[in-house]
Amino acid sequence: MKNLIIISNIMKLVFATNNKNKIKEIKALLPDSLNILSLDDIKCNEDIPETSNTIAGNALQKAKYVFDNFGHNCFADDTGLEIESLNGEPGIYSARYAGEHKSAEANMEKVLDKLENIENRNAQFKTVIALIIDGKETLLEGVAKGEITTKKSGLEGFGYDPIFKPEGYNITFSEMSMEEKNKISHRGKAVKKLVTFLSQ
Ligand code: IMP
Repeated sequence: MKNLIIISNIMKLVFATNNKNKIKEIKALLPDSLNILSLDDIKCNEDIPETSNTIAGNALQKAKYVFDNFGHNCFADDTGLEIESLNGEPGIYSARYAGEHKSAEANMEKVLDKLENIENRNAQFKTVIALIIDGKETLLEGVAKGEITTKKSGLEGFGYDPIFKPEGYNITFSEMSMEEKNKISHRGKAVKKLVTFLSQ
């Protein structure tokens, strides 16, 4: 922790997102003294391209965009829900699975429809964080295994949280507090690796 504070005093880090939920989640996991800036904070208003066919590739593409165009040390994350019986779908298409309007409700309905009468409901969330410090790239991965429920439950969180029940629990991510979810989530695990990396 001591090392982290020393680093944080000299390092501003851009988190290449404007998703307020994610910024809130990640700030709760990182020490307050680490100065996390959003894309809005650095006046990056462009739509950053995400054209890779892998989660890691998309995370790296976003981080590189910020580093190359704005010159800031930064990290970007990319997450996908991978459902075993759907051959890894929705994967990189998680945000827009049911269309470009990126509706979480429609995405969940599509998953529930596709899994109707399917017994194997195993799924995992995968997050990859791409970190670029002084041009050096590092990838950090976190996985949360679980299963897709048959109906939505809970009011917390976002995205597919109401239909994802993590392994070892009888409630969905959406029925957990943010703190509980962070302890076991894909992003929580990837961020822990980020914190460890930054403290070295
Ligand atoms: P992103 O790459 O982090 O923007 O995630 C892509 C999509 O995956 C989001 O639009 C959500 O639909 C879904 N997603 C990402 N993280 C989570 C999560 O923690 N819970 C539920 N859904 C998530």
